[in-house]
Amino acid sequence: MSKTLAKRREPWYNAGMDYAEILRRNGFGFKKKFGQNFLTDENLLRAIVRDAGVTEQTAVLEIGAGAGALTRALSACAKRVVAFEIDKDLRPVLEETLTGCGNAEVRFCDFSKCALAALEEELGDYVVAANLPYYITTPVVMRFVEEGRRCRAVTVMVQEEVARRFVAKEGTPDYGAVTAAIARRGSATITRKVSRELFHPRPNVDSAVVKMDFTQGGFAVKSEKKYREVVRAAFSNRRKTLENNLMGAFRLTREEAASLLARAGVDRGARGETLPPQMFARLADLLTE
Ligand code: SAM
Repeated sequence: MSKTLAKRREPWYNAGMDYAEILRRNGFGFKKKFGQNFLTDENLLRAIVRDAGVTEQTAVLEIGAGAGALTRALSACAKRVVAFEIDKDLRPVLEETLTGCGNAEVRFCDFSKCALAALEEELGDYVVAANLPYYITTPVVMRFVEEGRRCRAVTVMVQEEVARRFVAKEGTPDYGAVTAAIARRGSATITRKVSRELFHPRPNVDSAVVKMDFTQGGFAVKSEKKYREVVRAAFSNRRKTLENNLMGAFRLTREEAASLLARAGVDRGARGETLPPQMFARLADLLTE
């Protein structure tokens, strides 16, 4: 955050907000089906904003505004924040908590039903920052990975177990199709672990913040579709060799599959889970030729 911006915005950002009281006063009841576990810890909220790399030039997309605590923290540092919230019962709460956050707007609809291409047209380059509802974590992240053309980074709070899968290395039990999909777009790191005690209501598991930076570490493929098909095939049956999985998925004879692996420099007995994502890209490119 720049010093000038901090000076201009600190007064209302630090004004102190009793979210529990505001929610109570508005008769709000938490809905488990929407994954409503809210954050209020100022230090943690500021840390998430920092992890997301938000500056006064950044347009931010938030999925799930909740009571607006993260929205406020983002608004204090960003150029613009567009937040989605499925639960219309939060409208009066957000009207109160986002008072003074002129650069933030909340759209009350299901994010999975919004047209991402149109939203990107409107936002230009943007980053995603969110404490994601746990029941749609992976589909939301995969949407940005696969369709987010103007998305520069995704920084999200997710269950710790899911975070481990997002950043896993090949050859580990957490490594899978989602890891390989994310790795193609950029580098993924866990920026912090977060105790369940910091959420209200308290969930049964701990969480972690993962940053997926699409501006570094990714790699190009000739066909994204083919890369996805190879990755899907590689993990379709973890007990089978990659050769067998590829034969099934791409209708290859054993000789064709063996030749493909040889050209890619992959051992014939290898299992998909032992290959780094770049090797899936090499196989996909060979299959695209
Ligand atoms: N950002 C707030 C915070 O950190 O305290 C709330 C986070 S809470 C884990 C997730 C929020 O996402 C809830 O407010 C929930 O109602 C909202 N939500 C759930 N499903 C959604 C969807 N499909 N589209 C938009 N918002 C959704």
